[in-house]
Amino acid sequence: MTEPVYLDYNATAPIRPQALEACRAAMVRPHNASSVHSYGREARKIIEDARIQVAALCGVPAGQIIFNSGATEGNNTVLKFFSGERVLVSAIEHPSVLEAAPQAEKIAVTKDGVIDLGALETFLKNKPKAALVSIMLVNNETGAIQPVAEAARMAKNYGALVHCDAVQAAGRIPINMNELGIDFLTLSAHKIGGPQGVGALIMGICGITPRWLDGGGQEKKARAGTENVAGIAGFGEAAQCAANGLADPSSMHQIQEWRDKLENALLETSANIVIHSRNTPRVANTSLFSLPGVSSETLLMAFDLEGIALSNGSACASGSVRPSPVLKAMNVPDDIAAGTLRVSMGWNTKESDIDRFLEIWSKISQRIKDKKKAHA
Ligand code: PMP
Repeated sequence: MTEPVYLDYNATAPIRPQALEACRAAMVRPHNASSVHSYGREARKIIEDARIQVAALCGVPAGQIIFNSGATEGNNTVLKFFSGERVLVSAIEHPSVLEAAPQAEKIAVTKDGVIDLGALETFLKNKPKAALVSIMLVNNETGAIQPVAEAARMAKNYGALVHCDAVQAAGRIPINMNELGIDFLTLSAHKIGGPQGVGALIMGICGITPRWLDGGGQEKKARAGTENVAGIAGFGEAAQCAANGLADPSSMHQIQEWRDKLENALLETSANIVIHSRNTPRVANTSLFSLPGVSSETLLMAFDLEGIALSNGSACASGSVRPSPVLKAMNVPDDIAAGTLRVSMGWNTKESDIDRFLEIWSKISQRIKDKKKAHA
């Protein structure tokens, strides 16, 4: 079987060879970082080295990194810690934020999918005072970059702490937690080419450490459970590779050129196509677009049959026919939202992947046009 063309990096990125090797090398040894013997000390070194690599990706000292099982855990740990208090979240957060804070008030977004800072300020003025504001740095469906620094400044003026889900920003734009002014930040390794089931919750300097799991005293008592040494080793390597990629502007520039090529070709072949968040700063690797009158499932299956792996937006909503809550929050009409596809690229994408996608797109869209003509 030839490998499908993979254009679904926002769901999960293929593991980078360096990360895979680091995982393999760590996994074949009996590593418990709490053991005092030589294996234990070796495990401890692997974890502390990875902590430095992950910290560098977010511009913080290594001591602020708490390793965990991924962003779902990180988001739940923070949001549930504030469960009895007023919490403000953007309407386009990942379900691991929204479902973890059912009491949260939702900050509206513009039609381009960017949080409305005026709406945030209105909420912040209300009493009792909000304890936490949670805003993602990059939306997983549209790729739209959120004004987190401005929102954090505003939240601080009203005495609220700030959490940021930076899962889709990592490796795509530089992150500096202190410059953003945030108190808690979540990351997931597999979105940057590390293994699945490992991530980090990064603590700011507010002095509050939300904790979810009780047990052993791992991660300075902030996250109990024997450390996933192999996963953490792979996360560290992936973070290092992602940081190297960011340091080389030509690699993101290249991806942006391919995204532009893709979108221009889509607009040429399908006059009624809607490209979301095109008029606002976006990460270069993501394109979300809708073909009105067609269902995402039909499109996804047609692409899958041609050996192209895509998504209809949020990976968690993939395979379901629910309209995307993100597009709903952006006021995209249901008949447009129903025909949405997301192309997301990453470290191993090649121009030929985009060319192949476009070849198949013109075949599929021609078939749709012919069908419509036959029914007219
Ligand atoms: N936040 C965002 C923005 C995401 O895209 C995802 C993954 N879809 C998560 C959180 C959850 O990450 P994980 O499944 O690795 O826990």
